[in-house]
Parts: sequence; structure tokens; C-alpha cells
Amino acid sequence: MKKPVIFITRKIPEAVLDPYRKSFELLMWDEEETPVPRDVLLQEAKGADGVLCLLTEKIDREFFDTAGSLKVVANMAVGFDNIDTEAAKEKGVVVTNTPDVLTETTADLAFALLMAAARRIVEASDYIREGKWEHWSPYMLAGSDVHGKTIGIVGMGRIGEAVARRAKGFGMSIIYHNRSRKVDAEKELDAKYKDFNSLLEEADFVVCLTPLTNETRNMFSEDTFKRMKDSAVFVNVSRGGTVDEEALYHAVEREEIAAAGLDVFQNEPICADHPLVQLKNVVCLPHIGSSSTETRTKMLELCLDNLKAVFNDEPPITPV
Ligand code: NAP
Repeated sequence: MKKPVIFITRKIPEAVLDPYRKSFELLMWDEEETPVPRDVLLQEAKGADGVLCLLTEKIDREFFDTAGSLKVVANMAVGFDNIDTEAAKEKGVVVTNTPDVLTETTADLAFALLMAAARRIVEASDYIREGKWEHWSPYMLAGSDVHGKTIGIVGMGRIGEAVARRAKGFGMSIIYHNRSRKVDAEKELDAKYKDFNSLLEEADFVVCLTPLTNETRNMFSEDTFKRMKDSAVFVNVSRGGTVDEEALYHAVEREEIAAAGLDVFQNEPICADHPLVQLKNVVCLPHIGSSSTETRTKMLELCLDNLKAVFNDEPPITPV
């Protein structure tokens, strides 16, 4: 029987692919760093039964209209704001994502970013690199404490809860906001539910971990930053679209908040001349939330296992 044709939108290691070669005919965009050009993506999708894509690909209505025999799109991310799921549904194409396998790794990064912004880790490291360390003084590079403070988690889902568990270990008080309450998390972590504005006003650290949706787009705006404490640290590990970046820039520059840690941006990749990169109390990372070698491998395997399930007429493991 003819094997299903899978197009993979980025070069991935042969060691990961090898076990799946007996199930699929695997075609691949052969670049590790550069995203597949749009015209190549559309051309390859025409002949593919399945596509394994990254968040850099816009899987929109035009894509689904072009991809005639496509059965499944496996997105190598838990967020799927790059995919028009309505169009997929209309065309009967299954969409899968990679929840759970990246939860702890992303929570590690969110907490690292929180600590880096609070304790000025990047600025302090640059201080040595730039040859500025000549003395020691009582308040040299003094940041703010993390332990014992209040963390406000907006989007207390899988990753939000994992961040809360880390915060508990640091003796922090945990408050959170979702559209619905999470009674189990309240019990396990002694987390308190707050409406959005109360969370902004009470938290020392505001961490955004919602998906990007029409509701959450620009959720962090001029008004939200004004409501935060002037000592607050804002951390975003969700998607750049949840934040009005101009408002964030002004809030930090005018010292309406103390610092920010950002893993995600409105238009990625950003350049060194991006306004937020110019602020010394903003730590910027190139969207590396789930980027540990172990987790990235697990994410790829989960994509391939989802594809296998669909072509074996089994339910996908992690459909969106
Ligand atoms: P999840 O388990 O679905 O959690 C998302 C949480 O957000 C839910 O608890 C949900 O609760 C809440 N939420 C949704 N809409 C909301 C709204 N309008 N207002 C307030 N809360 C809202 O997802 P997850 O696995 O934790 O992942 C969360 C997001 O993190 C992903 O969607 C992705 O964009 C991002 N992410 C980023 C990286 C990275 O590399 N930076 C890595 C992994 C994930 P309710 O439904 O009750 O509102």
C-alpha cells in the first residue's frame, strides 16, 4: 500500500525521523534556520496527505484551499494561533498540537525570565562583559526580591499551574485569573482567584500564560500597565499578540512598572534595534520557552505520533 506523504516544514534530525520512515514518505524543507517560503509551502501542501508545521507557518484559508488531499496538520507548538481552525474544520482536516510535553520546560523558562528581570541578571552579566565592574557598593545592581512576593498568573492552565508550583517553592503568594475558576489549583497551591483588575493591582509579578485569541489580543494595554504597581515586573511567555508593545515600552520607560521579561513578540523575529531591546530593565528572549533538547524532541515525536494515529484511523493523541 502507498505510504502517506508527509511534508515537514523544517529540517529535523534524521534520528527523530528514522523510526517513522516505515510509516510515511517524508518530504522536508531542507533548512534548519530559514522558514519554508510561502510558495514552496503551498506547492508541497498540494501533494501532501499530512503536514508537520511550526508556528512560523501561516496555515490559513488559502493553505487549506490549495491542499487538496490533506487529512491532518500537526503543529509543533501548544499554541495554534497560526492556524485557521475554522477553515480546517470546514475542509475536514484534523489539527493537532503539542500540549503537556512542553509544560514543565516552558514553566522553567517563565520562572527563569521572572528571576532574570527581578534580579537584573542579564544587565549584571553585561556589566562584567563591558568592563564596568570596578568597585562593590551597597546597592550595586540591586534588584527586587522574588521570595515572599505575590505572583499573579493570567492564564492558569497547564503551564500557569506549573509556574505556580515553582512560585510556591519560593514562598510566594499565588493569585490567578482565568475566565473560569480552577478549584483543584486553588486547593493544591493555595492560589486565590481574582478578577483581572484586582490581580493587576495586587501582584508584584504579573505573568501572562493565556493562548492568543480574539479575547486576549492586546489584553495588556496602557490601562493594564497603569493599574500595576510601580514596582511590578511583567513577564510574557504566551504570545506577543497579547501585549500592546508600545504601551509596555512607555510603561517601563516612564517607570510605571519596574521591569519586564519577554519571550514572545508581536512580529517575530525582532531585531536588535527593537525599542524594547533598548531598555536595560527589559529582558528579551527569542521565543525559547519550550527550547530544551529533550522537550523539542518530544514535541516532534508527538507530532509524528499524531500523524501516525490519524493515518491508522485512530483518534489523534492531542487534537486541538
Ligand atoms: P492551557 O492549559 O490551555 O492554559 C491556558 C489558560 O488560559 C487556561 O487556563 C484558560 O482558562 C486561560 N485563558 C484562556 N483565555 C483567557 C482569557 N480570555 N482570559 C483569561 N484567561 C484565559 O494552555 P498551556 O498549555 O498552559 O499554554 C498556554 C499558552 O502558552 C499557549 O497557548 C501558548 O500560546 C503559550 N506557550 C508559549 C511557549 C513559548 O515558547 N513561549 C511555549 C508553550 C506555550 P479559561 O479557559 O478558564 O479562561
